[in-house]
Amino acid sequence: MAVSRQVCPFHADEDILGVAAGGTDGSLTFTCPRGTGHVQPGPHTWLQVLQPEGLPGIDGYAAELGLASELPAALGQYKGSWIEYGVVERAYALRCPGDFAAIVGRYGHKAVEPKQYTASAFLAGVLGVLSKRGTVLYHLGPATGRWSYNVTISWWSVAPAPDWDSARLSWADSGDDSVSYIPGAHGQ
Ligand SMILES: [Zn+2]
Repeated sequence: MAVSRQVCPFHADEDILGVAAGGTDGSLTFTCPRGTGHVQPGPHTWLQVLQPEGLPGIDGYAAELGLASELPAALGQYKGSWIEYGVVERAYALRCPGDFAAIVGRYGHKAVEPKQYTASAFLAGVLGVLSKRGTVLYHLGPATGRWSYNVTISWWSVAPAPDWDSARLSWADSGDDSVSYIPGAHGQ
């Protein structure tokens, strides 16, 4: 059973009820409605991706790979825009190809074989943890291109928060729909 309530990390007295993030994996979105006291002015929103039992938790492995700094650095290449999850994944893979290959080897990838828990779920899970701390910013948005089987998907940025209506880069608009950055992936 998923934990569906979380306390805002900036307001110990705000107990937030998670709402479905729209995907099929049971991910939840949490929003503390207070307008002040967060990293950014306005409400604080974060993502929780469910981690399956029986697999190593994200904490140890994510720390080993330095993801708390590498993922924000990959995102920082697109400072000023919200970017769709797939763009983040590719940016990280190109930045740290050896580590990304190791993650795909450990968890698999939907572009390699059908699977419920994947390298993408792992990386989105780490981004979710970082979004709760306010290290990266999270927004729920549409899934595009080869990710559109998800319907909705996570979008990410670094502070300061870009304008959601005017500063967005989707996977479909990123200029390359190929999965050539994923070791072992088939297709274009
Ligand atoms: Zn709060």
